Amino acid sequence: MEVTLLAYTPAPLKVIYTAARTCYSARPPAEIWADEVPEEKMEDLVNRLIQQGHHSVLEHVSFTLGIAGISRSCLAQLTRHRVGIAFSVQSQRYVRLDRPTYVTPPSLGLDGERRTRFEKAMAEAWQVYNELVSAGVAPEDARFVLPNATTCNLVLTVNIRELIHICELRLCPRAQWEIHELFLKVAAEVVKVAPFLKRHLVPKCLRLGYCDEPESCGIMPHWRELQAQGRLPNPVSRLQDNG
Ligand SMILES: Cc1cc2nc3c(=O)[nH]c(=O)nc-3n(C[C@H](O)[C@H](O)[C@H](O)COP(=O)(O)OP(=O)(O)OC[C@H]3O[C@@H](n4cnc5c(N)ncnc54)[C@H](O)[C@@H]3O)c2cc1C
Repeated sequence: MEVTLLAYTPAPLKVIYTAARTCYSARPPAEIWADEVPEEKMEDLVNRLIQQGHHSVLEHVSFTLGIAGISRSCLAQLTRHRVGIAFSVQSQRYVRLDRPTYVTPPSLGLDGERRTRFEKAMAEAWQVYNELVSAGVAPEDARFVLPNATTCNLVLTVNIRELIHICELRLCPRAQWEIHELFLKVAAEVVKVAPFLKRHLVPKCLRLGYCDEPESCGIMPHWRELQAQGRLPNPVSRLQDNG
């Protein structure tokens, strides 16, 4: 897959800083924007806002990324994210996909019987697709024979608030490998132009300080472990205590 940052809100740190300072200042935003403020001071404020949950200010900055060569399976997972995000996806109705282009899961290995069987299934799918199109079936109907592995391209725009949320979920090693890889690449592109986000585009366990998945991968201790050591209150028992 390829991920390329196409465009982004200019001066992202200053935009967030200005939005946040506007909330707590009698001065108009244009005056605050004109202030010469050291990067570290702006970064310090933004870090505190993120920690405190004042997250709406993060919605003023967006990143637009070109993504090529992910599978339709990965696309289905990606488009479950609905808030603060926009997608423009290559159409299988209007684009004829006459050449086989598909993603092969690494678990199939580089060769061997499973790999051969998979590639045969892909070749068969495209053969039927091309036969149907040649017989006059519109690509929008012929595509029904194409597999989840079929690649697609899209343009994605996402604001920082949602990007932090998605990275919390998809950079968790329990997320599937393809969307995990996608967001490693998205985060790397974004951090190039907004280095202050490096510490925030991380799996959720790094923010929580523990793992809340059914099992820990080992990056952070599981919450049950911390609770057994008396280092974490049990939110469920607290609710029960309160009736
Ligand atoms: C490891 C993993 C496994 C998964 N397995 C499955 C599965 O088996 N089956 C399945 O169907 N899905 C599965 N999902 C998808 C998951 O249920 C979510 O649909 C997906 O992660 C999108 O996240 P989100 O709901 O936070 O949406 P986003 O659009 O990213 O929403 C951001 C936040 O906005 C708020 N929000 C958004 N929409 C609403 C709303 N309508 N009402 C109130 N608040 C809202 C929520 O706080 C939400 O967290 C899985 C996701 C992960 C990470």
